[in-house]
Amino acid sequence: MDYKTKFIFVTGGVLSSLGKGLASASIGALLESRGLSVTIQKLDPYINVDPGTMNPFQHGEVFVTDDGAETDLDLGHYERFTQAKMCMQNNFTSGKIYDAVIMKERKGDYLGGTVQVIPHITDEIKRRIRLVSDGVDIVIVEIGGTIGDIESLPFLEAIRQFRAETGKNNVLYIHLTLVPYIRTAGEVKTKPTQHSVKELRGIGIQPDILLCRSDRYLPKDIKAKISLFCNVGVDAVITAKDVECIYEVPLIYHKEGLDNRIVEMLHIWTRAPRLEAWEELVKKIKEPKFSVAIAIVGKYTDLTESYKSLNEALCHGGILNDCRVDLMFIDSEKLETGNCGQILAGANGILVPGGFGSRGIEGKILAVQYARENGVPFFGICLGMQAAVIEFARNVAGLESAHSSEFDERTPYPVIYLMTEWYDDKTGTTQLRDTTSDKGGTMRLGAYPCRIKPGTFADKAYGVSDISERHRHRYEFNNTFLDQLETKGLAVSGASPSGELVEIIEISDHPWFLGCQFHPEFKSRPMDPHPLFTDFIKASLGK
Ligand code: GLN
Repeated sequence: MDYKTKFIFVTGGVLSSLGKGLASASIGALLESRGLSVTIQKLDPYINVDPGTMNPFQHGEVFVTDDGAETDLDLGHYERFTQAKMCMQNNFTSGKIYDAVIMKERKGDYLGGTVQVIPHITDEIKRRIRLVSDGVDIVIVEIGGTIGDIESLPFLEAIRQFRAETGKNNVLYIHLTLVPYIRTAGEVKTKPTQHSVKELRGIGIQPDILLCRSDRYLPKDIKAKISLFCNVGVDAVITAKDVECIYEVPLIYHKEGLDNRIVEMLHIWTRAPRLEAWEELVKKIKEPKFSVAIAIVGKYTDLTESYKSLNEALCHGGILNDCRVDLMFIDSEKLETGNCGQILAGANGILVPGGFGSRGIEGKILAVQYARENGVPFFGICLGMQAAVIEFARNVAGLESAHSSEFDERTPYPVIYLMTEWYDDKTGTTQLRDTTSDKGGTMRLGAYPCRIKPGTFADKAYGVSDISERHRHRYEFNNTFLDQLETKGLAVSGASPSGELVEIIEISDHPWFLGCQFHPEFKSRPMDPHPLFTDFIKASLGK
């Protein structure tokens, strides 16, 4: 059978957090730079059906795609490093696979047969891998977790079978391991890598390429040792050296010869890679002329992983401004008891990100007030925009106990509320929000259109009248209060084309004050920074 598409499977060993997501994304970037088209898929071994309900504390950010899938944060890396457009099919979990197989069984699709991990679960996994392969040269598949986890076994068995079915020259296994430097011994150690590869071979997978995470370039003799013990060609032992800036990873891999090895092994003829844009990008990020400090006033502030895309988008916002962006993570609860002025004193700009739950909400509202009253550039995203509306209603429009009905069901001024019926411009239908469903209502998820009002901060940033941005929220701006807030100086600078859903608010009598109901951070790319972040950083620079 002739398979046009080739597949690269990326597994990880020794320990988690070695950067498998970034490795997969960087491999994608390198192959694209050689003129190939790629897509990247993440298979997560955990049982949750999707990461939507997982605590960002534990699992990091939930990344949202245009088609409204709530996915693993690695998909954010894939979109930032490559042209590939992520959708629902680019991420699935064991939970989703089992769910599908059990549903089929209930419907009687297996005609009374015994349903087993092999072949039924593994077949379903392989089917889903093939689903994303249409029209691309290379599918990169990242297997979550670490070799040795019980949950990963069906995935590893499925990718083992994959090569037998798809042909040796069409499938490549890349394994990411750790080669630690042990200070007391004064040398790097290869044993953990040997063990991890041994484990992988025990499952029937011989890796073709090893990516060895290390704080230094591995010398020839160490590579030779790894090659010998792991049965991998010496030139296929690649140092994945620690870097200062994540966008350096593709460059380091290239220097070590990774993309050459991949195209050789997959028997692909391509042009030489064009990496000038990456080199320029890294230079710009590492040697900026200016710097600003941005305060992020949020809840999960101890874990910066929960704001992955946001942190990246802020860094991107600095690129066109020749500016380094230093992030100050501030726990909003601290503002409730402490002195706002003192805590926020060092910030050139203040950002209140998205969030759920009432903890720390008053602190976020205080941060908005501080930014508004002191002319500090302000950017509110999703819950951050809602906090800005609440603050304005309370302190400028005189609606004293205004709130979001998410946090105070009995407020006389629910300026943010659950809109149970709304017009969806995408489908041209009226949508109902089911308020009895879990967690208080159905979310508005994924891409929605928005029309920008001329002469506003939003207009200046985007420069076009119609945009599309990604959403993940339940509550909306309450139009009942629109006139009252507008008369006092709050402007709606973006709304759904029908005009019903408020998407962007701003205060024009301020250096830069903007809140949006959507999450612009999901669409920012290092090569194509999001205009709202660029303008927010520009304003924070005092320009
Ligand atoms: N909790 C708010 C809502 O559901 C905001 C959500 C968010 O910031 N993503 O509307």
